[in-house]
Amino acid sequence: MRQTLQNLEESKIREVANAGFGRSDVLAFWFGESDEATPDFIRQAAIDSLQRGETFYSHNLGLLELREAISAYMSARHGPVGVDRLAVTSGGVNALMLAVQALVDAGDEVVAVTPVWPNLTAQPAILGARVRCVPLRPVDGAWTLDLDALLAAVTPATKLLIVNSPNNPTGWTLSRAEQQAIVEHCRRTGTWILADEVYERLYYADDTPNGCAPSFLDVTGPDDRLVVVHSFSKSFLMTGWRLGWLVMPPALTHPMGKLLEFNTSCASVFTQRAGVVALQRTDEVTPRVVAHLRACRDTLVPLLQAVPGVQVAPARGGMYAFFRLAGFEDSLDTAKRLVAEAGLGLAPGNAFAPEAQGWLRWCFASKDTGRLAEGVDRLKRWLS
Ligand code: PLP
Repeated sequence: MRQTLQNLEESKIREVANAGFGRSDVLAFWFGESDEATPDFIRQAAIDSLQRGETFYSHNLGLLELREAISAYMSARHGPVGVDRLAVTSGGVNALMLAVQALVDAGDEVVAVTPVWPNLTAQPAILGARVRCVPLRPVDGAWTLDLDALLAAVTPATKLLIVNSPNNPTGWTLSRAEQQAIVEHCRRTGTWILADEVYERLYYADDTPNGCAPSFLDVTGPDDRLVVVHSFSKSFLMTGWRLGWLVMPPALTHPMGKLLEFNTSCASVFTQRAGVVALQRTDEVTPRVVAHLRACRDTLVPLLQAVPGVQVAPARGGMYAFFRLAGFEDSLDTAKRLVAEAGLGLAPGNAFAPEAQGWLRWCFASKDTGRLAEGVDRLKRWLS
């Protein structure tokens, strides 16, 4: 077995969840997914595809119809994004791994902004890259970027900068001015940017013309060293389908197709057919999902803020409340105790970075906002 695999830590989120799986008395908010199933018309598209007998491989880069639908969807939000810049992937996780495989060699330096969903730092590490983290800083419960510290950390020795905005777990979101400064700096250092924008539609700040979080696509041209990761999981309620996509410079697309051949060959075809319909009819899904998530956030955060010892700020984007609980400094221990003693399933903050020790993540994507209130009641009872 490879040393890097031996050294690979188990996900702390899974560690907590494994302790509570199968327990019907646990209210689980530990994973990043809604408890609402995919809309019927998207499911029907996959059923129709199977009934037509579409049971074969597709092009490595994905069905042309899906790449055209992605191109139309992205172009409507970010200006022209041609099919020559797109690859369909088996989910955002696969998209991230492909991007890292395409851009870094073993021994290369990668800089990542943290706290962040653990896959973003684990994937380059699995490939033997050296990952340096630049931490966000909590100010009154809201996490903020020290832009100067980030720019100082990215040097000509940095092959890749990984940024996830809107951010899982903190809800922190880059501003357009920060993106511009990062792009200009990375042009000077020759560093690639890997932007994980899977939460771009789940944005609550109402300060952008397209309603999406600021995107690196809006401050770059097609030939910039930028790869953007997208997913159907969050905006279309499609976590279990495993479907996502990559936007990249045209020169990288053909090599990415070669890599896809050696990873998955292609995403599952009936799933891709569902993806076409999801994108074409996004207005029937995503605005409703986002409005509901905003209501969930606005239910949960004030309830948490009223709990003595809790420090939390409303997320600008994403689907998480990230909070600190005074007097409970070991996140993993606290999360395990909450499962065992309160029947409340949360993710431990230190799964996302050592500096988030003492924090907990609560996914607020719940069909029934009453579940969120019941969860807060359980937390209060446990604390008292
Ligand atoms: N990126 C971030 C920041 C995430 O939080 C997730 C999932 O939680 C993903 C990527 C991957 O999503 P998926 O593989 O379901 O498309």
